Amino acid sequence: MSTYENQASDIKKVLHYDVIIVGAGMVGATLACALAEQGMQVLILDSALSPQIDLTQKPGLRVSAIHIASVNFLKKLQVWPLLSAKRLRPFTHMEIWETNPSNHTIDRLFKTDQSVVLDCQHIGEQALGYFIENDIFQAALHERLEALPTAQLLTGVSIDQFINPLDHAEKRILLTNKNEYVSPLIIGADGMLSQVRSWSGIQTNHTTYGQSAFVATVELPTDPGFLTWQAFTAQGPMAFLPLPVCANRYYASLVWYHTQIHHQALMALSDVELIRQISQHFPQQLPPILSLVSKNTFPLSKQIATSYVKPGVALIGDAAHTVHPLAGQGLNLGLQDAITLTDVIVTAWKKGEIYASLDVLKTYQQIRQADTRHMIWLLEACHYGFMSHNIVIKCLRKASFLGAKYQPIKRYITEYGAGKRLKILQNMYKIPSI
Ligand SMILES: Cc1cc2nc3c(=O)[nH]c(=O)nc-3n(C[C@H](O)[C@H](O)[C@H](O)COP(=O)(O)OP(=O)(O)OC[C@H]3O[C@@H](n4cnc5c(N)ncnc54)[C@H](O)[C@@H]3O)c2cc1C
Repeated sequence: MSTYENQASDIKKVLHYDVIIVGAGMVGATLACALAEQGMQVLILDSALSPQIDLTQKPGLRVSAIHIASVNFLKKLQVWPLLSAKRLRPFTHMEIWETNPSNHTIDRLFKTDQSVVLDCQHIGEQALGYFIENDIFQAALHERLEALPTAQLLTGVSIDQFINPLDHAEKRILLTNKNEYVSPLIIGADGMLSQVRSWSGIQTNHTTYGQSAFVATVELPTDPGFLTWQAFTAQGPMAFLPLPVCANRYYASLVWYHTQIHHQALMALSDVELIRQISQHFPQQLPPILSLVSKNTFPLSKQIATSYVKPGVALIGDAAHTVHPLAGQGLNLGLQDAITLTDVIVTAWKKGEIYASLDVLKTYQQIRQADTRHMIWLLEACHYGFMSHNIVIKCLRKASFLGAKYQPIKRYITEYGAGKRLKILQNMYKIPSI
């Protein structure tokens, strides 16, 4: 007798949905809001509980830059007012420069101010994006889900068993709450170690960069303003992210990319010594630090699923792809997966087509794989390009900085970074925006 047959008599209820989403993180919960907003019956589940937010507390360690295209989508889903009512920080400018001063001929040849400033006004927006604490974002999405009549959010539960084989038209899953849930479509939004991806037998290509990101939230004496900056060094970038004002105090998030050994040494330092190290190594643009709020390190790797879909299964967000965080694009890519998958599924569903079929889901895969590959290519060009001492690459790097000063190129980079490229891709595949 199988484990399922053993458990069958214990099953409390069998419940049917149009879509089941595994993982109610920022990406899965956004997709659930979008599908339920269109009237689909959606079950979204997460093994963790919803974050509890206390706005009197200092900002959390995990922060994401959300670009304008993602913001516009969240406005459509009525999530944005919930977020604005909590806390977020707009950034209107982004400055990027290289800090490798040397007396090399190339550096002397390209004698120029190497800093490039991207300005929201170049693309007619009020901000390039917003810094949002991950917990606050997730809590706002869960709040919105609770208000949507066709969405059901279950937290603190996970999948005990996938009951029927993958090729079955109806996917049946048994949760740890002993209920059985049935749907033609299961979406894996369950992060980098996705259980749905393993169950569907989808492989990944995984690369480690041999580096980690050291992240620290610090308190500052004055308001950090609306400029975010990133200085590229031969060891990796250093970034400054202004955070929202909390209880009349000022904060910023600092990100320092370096070797894991270097970061282990940093983590072992006392707060006072760590602040001294940061102040000594970060560029002079870093304001004085009053105190350290929190710190941690995150190993850097790239992981791409060889396929984003199977019949009745789709992967989104980090379950499908994990990218280098240097340009703050991982979550934004996931949110764009959610936009495209919503458009593809809802269009088919409204026409009465089999929205869980491979034919329908492949359109999502084609659009999103193309976009993600392009982004990974750019991120790796930045990662390896800035660390390289090769003369040709050094020349290309200097020339790119010069090129980025020309308005049309600058505008293109700003629009690309702000996520405005998705519309072009969807139009190419004739996918209407819902
Ligand atoms: C240092 C750092 C900085 C970053 N900065 C940015 C940034 O500025 N901008 C940006 O766009 N991106 C950034 N990223 C990337 C971003 O954090 C991720 O891409 C994003 O969090 C992925 O969201 P997700 O919802 O796909 O996955 P996750 O956030 O991993 O969420 C997965 C969810 O699934 C749940 N889950 C997992 N397994 C199961 C299971 N078996 N059953 C049920 N539930 C399950 C988890 O509890 C979780 O809630 C950064 C990443 C790092 C490491």
